[in-house]
Amino acid sequence: MHLFDRRTGLNVLFDEVDVPETLWARAPRQVSIALTNACDLACPFCYAPKNAAMLDADRLCAWIDELDAEGCLGIGFGGGEPTLYRRLPQVARHAAERSSLAVTMTTHAHRLTPQLIDALAGALNFVRVSVDGVGTTYEEQRGRPFSELVQHLARLGQTFRFGLNCVVNPQTLPDLDAVADLAASAGAAELLLLPERPARGRPGSSPQTIAALHQWITNYRGPLPLTLGEGDTGSLPTAQPLPRETGLRTYAHIDAAATLRRTSYHSVGEPVDDRGILAALDRLQQKDVV
Ligand code: SF4
Repeated sequence: MHLFDRRTGLNVLFDEVDVPETLWARAPRQVSIALTNACDLACPFCYAPKNAAMLDADRLCAWIDELDAEGCLGIGFGGGEPTLYRRLPQVARHAAERSSLAVTMTTHAHRLTPQLIDALAGALNFVRVSVDGVGTTYEEQRGRPFSELVQHLARLGQTFRFGLNCVVNPQTLPDLDAVADLAASAGAAELLLLPERPARGRPGSSPQTIAALHQWITNYRGPLPLTLGEGDTGSLPTAQPLPRETGLRTYAHIDAAATLRRTSYHSVGEPVDDRGILAALDRLQQKDVV
């Protein structure tokens, strides 16, 4: 029996009874959904596709219903920049009120006006804010005033549980202490560390940068839980809530052109058509087997 609290992300697994795999939920535990490719920033490490694409809100609501019925635990809205998606409040509210899914969003936060925060209040369980450094490091990476980011964090922290996401590369690595301090002082619940991926001619984080990141994690003694992507943990000790679930049972990504992939970095995908997400998932699984 698995209990999950979408408000806090707490997982409790009672595994005394060995349930046959055929009875496990078919849906991935977590599905990230790029609502739109549109973004008003131009971060140098961005890997989001730059072609214009946006998901249809009615289809999105149908997918949310399907994922909920099939045992998915949470969805995460991203992009592009999800706050540029006009029907974000309606779709998030549909998920919050019509499903038991945990609803999260990853944003640069610069468009989170008091009006939008009000519209999303109660509809999002967690907000992830992209912060890759402090002061001029942040401004060089994101091209927006750091002082404005700090104001946005203070404002959104009054309404949402939130965490910081930090892209780690040679420019941002020296700022990790400062980012962790900022996260803790702003009231963040966690710090997600994301080694930069190869994209658009940039090579991504080198083995040296990743080794330095792992060393920083090993030495960190602050109050924040640290999180890493599944493929980025190396030999670090990590907490695995459901260790026997792997691959597409764990996570999948739907891009703004409605293509289902293993992650946003994978190029192989399957279109999600009228047959739904689980059918696309089966086809994607089959593709990988062939
Ligand atoms: S905020 Fe995100 S989507 Fe927008 S340019 Fe930066 S990395 Fe890309």
